[in-house]
Amino acid sequence: MNISSPLAGIHQELSLLAQQTKCHPARLIAVSKTRTEAEIEALIQQGQRDFGENRVQEALGKWPRLLAQYPEVRLRLIGPLQTNKVKYLSGLFHAVDSVDRLSLAEALARQTERSGYRPNVLVQVNTGEEEQKAGIAPQGLEGFLRDCVRLELDVQGLMCIPPQNESAAIHFAFLKKLCDDHGLKECSMGMSGDYACAAKLGATMVRVGTALFGARD
Ligand SMILES: *Cc1c(COP(=O)(O)O)cnc(C)c1O
Repeated sequence: MNISSPLAGIHQELSLLAQQTKCHPARLIAVSKTRTEAEIEALIQQGQRDFGENRVQEALGKWPRLLAQYPEVRLRLIGPLQTNKVKYLSGLFHAVDSVDRLSLAEALARQTERSGYRPNVLVQVNTGEEEQKAGIAPQGLEGFLRDCVRLELDVQGLMCIPPQNESAAIHFAFLKKLCDDHGLKECSMGMSGDYACAAKLGATMVRVGTALFGARD
């Protein structure tokens, strides 16, 4: 692996942080939205295996070929999902990290019944209780997780996107506590600007785009 590459640098940083926190290193999810197949393939060839896309339509355009060629690669949906797009997920997304409402949980359960496709699921929590932002309000989480159990979704953890204008650390610590309180092992938090902070506070996955691929024009 090329030690001077951003990928190697971030991995090194995550393993150093893991030594400090005495936890497993956070898994690096390479966020490849707006990136070309060639850019993605370059990262796969450097050993990257976990990728995130935020739009189903865009993923359909570039990932079927990549996944056919690199079957060990796993793709996660990290952006908003309309229920009418659920039928396109099978064979493409290993996980849906943005389950944020009952109608979507129900659509995923129906899709499992129809096709057997049963992705890993993270529940998105609106930790800042922002009106515009997707996600389950913290006070509704317990009830929503119960709905997910009833629907037999494979919920593995929680994810959040903290408010822009607040200290992210408070939200990361809060999400980690919610994971612990509910016995959920996966905690997806932290992006290019704050993944180190998230890793220190117990993220098991960090979602990094810009710091890996470079800034977009
Ligand atoms: C784009 C995106 C990221 C990565 O953002 P960067 O700042 O480019 O690292 C992480 N999470 C979600 C949900 C995103 O949409």
